[in-house]
Amino acid sequence: MKTSHIRTPLPGPRAQALIARDAEVISPSYPRDYPFAMSHGRGTEVWDVDGNRFLDFAAGIAVCATGHAHPRVVEVVRQAAGEFLHISSDYWHEQMVGLGERLARLAPMRTLAGEAAMSFLCQSGTEAVEGAIKLARYVTRRPRFIGFLGGFHGRSMGSLSFTSSKYTQQLGFAPTMPGVTHVPYPDPYRPLFAGADQGQAVLDYIGLLFERSVPAAEVAAILVEPIQGEGGYIVPPDGFLAGLRALCDRHGILLIFDEVQSGVGRTGRMFACEHWGVAPDILTSAKGLGSGLPIGAVVAKKSIMAQWKRGAHGNTYGGNPIACAAANATLDLVEGGFAENAATVGAHFMDRLGELARRYPCIGEVRGRGLMIGLELIGTDGSRKPARALCDAVITRAFHNGLLLLSCGASTVRFMPPLNTSVAEVDEAVELLDASLEEALVGSHDPA
Ligand code: PMP
Repeated sequence: MKTSHIRTPLPGPRAQALIARDAEVISPSYPRDYPFAMSHGRGTEVWDVDGNRFLDFAAGIAVCATGHAHPRVVEVVRQAAGEFLHISSDYWHEQMVGLGERLARLAPMRTLAGEAAMSFLCQSGTEAVEGAIKLARYVTRRPRFIGFLGGFHGRSMGSLSFTSSKYTQQLGFAPTMPGVTHVPYPDPYRPLFAGADQGQAVLDYIGLLFERSVPAAEVAAILVEPIQGEGGYIVPPDGFLAGLRALCDRHGILLIFDEVQSGVGRTGRMFACEHWGVAPDILTSAKGLGSGLPIGAVVAKKSIMAQWKRGAHGNTYGGNPIACAAANATLDLVEGGFAENAATVGAHFMDRLGELARRYPCIGEVRGRGLMIGLELIGTDGSRKPARALCDAVITRAFHNGLLLLSCGASTVRFMPPLNTSVAEVDEAVELLDASLEEALVGSHDPA
């Protein structure tokens, strides 16, 4: 039984008018998939400008960690805004120091490896990655990096050099930063290498690179997502991150975990790397960190971050008091139960999606951790061929049924609702997804 709350054909008249105005004045480069024009939101529910209700399982691309307009976050933001809007990172204030203290306490280098951590604050995931690679170069004075095919790390020239979840992200922008070598990410569902252990195969491949073309002594860092996000919500095999850690330690290479998407409770732990007990030297965070306020952080071992000399790296807005206040409230909520909720509700969600997978042969795999879940759509010929058109159709049908979703990878529907989403909301979303799959399959356009 379908429980859609859509009252008008979409987009409704107000959405149409807003979208027409936008088309005249806003860059067409944004990759927008369907015409949702937001009015307001509460928790996991959002309403469009025509009064239609949707369940938001995209959460601003995994940003609205505490749901829309969480009262505690709104309260601290209001309070901070009433005190001062900005002072610049040239000065000191309580919200910024408080966030540094929280990040130092929660950082996996402390919780997993007992090492002190320091943070550099910025406004986005891109800038956090940019800061992390600059820090790695600065402390090692080495020119090269290893990144992963399918990785997404941002679109500024430095971060873009690592981004490779779609070739179109780099198309038209070459030359990017030199010195970045991409290697395959271990994908147990679509294995690239012979043998059962794709993680070990990738480690061996990097070892071969070091022997033949990329001198390990010139590599500053390996930059990796502990669970690959835009590339397809791919969970690496056990042992892979530990293998990378060992490889880095052997060659004096820094290990950077990009937890912009997977961090801050998203996978049911504060940071995804905790699932495998492996600590990085440098970690990037953003997205969920500010519940929607623009904030990012480079969190590094103190022994590394402390090497940055005064003036080596900086910005105007780092440590903005309102963004920091939102991040402090967000981390308190995530630590105080939302990460745990993501783990339990996520497990229920995976079970429900598993039920769908048994009914629909076009669902190849359900994978993820916590509330970072991917549903892989495949051809019906029994192969694991990606079903891109079906994936697009499911997402469009879901929108028309009142469920906001996004895709990733080759043909993966991804689910990243707020961390405080309830079991009832997951059940409602599964019903809407079920109806959307049925409708999309009727008009499926993938070549056999
Ligand atoms: N790293 C990862 C893993 C990401 O998923 C993203 C955004 N999708 C970024 C970096 C870039 O973050 P932002 O869009 O905040 O600049």
